[in-house]
Amino acid sequence: MSHVLSTLARVMRATTFRFALDPTPAQAAMLARHAGASRYAYNQSLRLVVDALAAKEIDPAVVVPWSGFDLINAFNAWKKTEDAGRVFVVAADGTSTKRVTGLAWRHEVAAQVFEEAAVDLGRALAAYSQSRSGSRKRQRMGFPRRKRKGRCRDSFRLRNNKGKGGSSRIRIGDVCPRSVALPRIGTVRVHDDTRRLRRLLRPVAQTDLDTGEPVVAPRANVLSATVSRHGARWYVSLNLQAPDFHAKRRHQLRRGGSPPGFVGVDRGLALFAVAATSDGTEVGRWQAPKPLNRRLGRLRRRSRALSRTKPGSRNRAKAARHLSQEHARIANLRRSFLHEISGHLAKTHGRLVVEDLAVANLVRNKHLARAIADAAWAEFGRQLRYKSTWLGAELVICDRWFPSTKTCSRCGIVKPRMGLAERTFDCGQCNLIMDRDRNAAANLAAWADATSMAAAQAPDRQAGGRTTNAHGAKGGGRHPGDGATGRNEVGTEAQVAWAEDTRAGCCRVISAR
Ligand SMILES: [Zn+2]
Repeated sequence: MSHVLSTLARVMRATTFRFALDPTPAQAAMLARHAGASRYAYNQSLRLVVDALAAKEIDPAVVVPWSGFDLINAFNAWKKTEDAGRVFVVAADGTSTKRVTGLAWRHEVAAQVFEEAAVDLGRALAAYSQSRSGSRKRQRMGFPRRKRKGRCRDSFRLRNNKGKGGSSRIRIGDVCPRSVALPRIGTVRVHDDTRRLRRLLRPVAQTDLDTGEPVVAPRANVLSATVSRHGARWYVSLNLQAPDFHAKRRHQLRRGGSPPGFVGVDRGLALFAVAATSDGTEVGRWQAPKPLNRRLGRLRRRSRALSRTKPGSRNRAKAARHLSQEHARIANLRRSFLHEISGHLAKTHGRLVVEDLAVANLVRNKHLARAIADAAWAEFGRQLRYKSTWLGAELVICDRWFPSTKTCSRCGIVKPRMGLAERTFDCGQCNLIMDRDRNAAANLAAWADATSMAAAQAPDRQAGGRTTNAHGAKGGGRHPGDGATGRNEVGTEAQVAWAEDTRAGCCRVISAR
């Protein structure tokens, strides 16, 4: 038993804390300089790759730096060369001598910024190689392009190296609770409350899992910090390795008694989402928050204002700044809204089912507002996925061809058409009249109930039989928002399961992976 407990306790999760920063003007300049250095290192490393590729055309023996590790070494070697910087020293007698300085400003920024930029380029090159060979599961990527000032996101990353005496270089609440200490940059004021993070990082008495001896150590540790600019603001994202949630906070599935049924979450048309159980009982309904809707109108106005200004003018720069601030505010509002709903769902329901998110992208992405909503839905799926894993909830992704909207949730008949304007589902067979989105959510829940039951009855088909139809719902593999999977791909892996629909005594085809 103790062995089981210790392996459970060892489970760590990756989590991120994001704070807005309140830097002094000098610190803001320092942050901008680091972001510039990161962009420079990325572009320069890319140039080294391109040059090496060109040289390889002539001499096949040339080695092209490709991995992050090779790129770090290539950039570090280059930054000390004459190509990176030189000065001519004129002596009193008029003779001038050349002195190689290397990249003159390289000591003004943390050296890690260069290394992390090279690592990023290594990842981009790997994604490109995999796309070419066809082994990349996610979106296809082309050859990396240069980052342009003003066009790409200003950002840089710092690792949390141990300083002298073994203390972390990235520290929270050093000077005052709302502060973050970053290597080379110093202690920057944080705009938000940091208490939850500080609690995770506070040293506590615990048992060392490797040696079994009592130690005093923080429960979580910071791996790296990414600093980025959104609109006019700087933010820091701290990547942490934190212990899993306490067992009491997690859903206890399959621990005595039959598990409760699934809750289906359907993306609404006018509203954000509707959650319902298989019998059509609504358990949640969410409208996008008013400030978000109001700001979308303002976004449109500011976009128009920008397009009316003269290129290169001061007014244009001002309008562009206003627009980017509006984008950043909307992103913040939306993020907190999504976190609220995904957190609520993962906490309150142990078994959830959502439709495959690509459906939404395929069907309706014609207008700007819709495209924005689609992006939010993908992000929502991502949050729901990791939160379910953290809280031990079961998340099932419904097959993308399942007609959740067109099916009657009482008798199971599938309508040939269901117009976008039809707000209620009106069944011609059993006279069911139900809100369109609630009906769809109920269908999703019924689908998941039936498939999980079918999987439980035929456990030999796939070991465990628990989330057999939840492609990508657990651990690695494909996840919502991963992008396009062709119809063929779905077809080859599709399994057709039959399940009794006891409510109407009829049989329904349930297609599942
Ligand atoms: Zn019906």
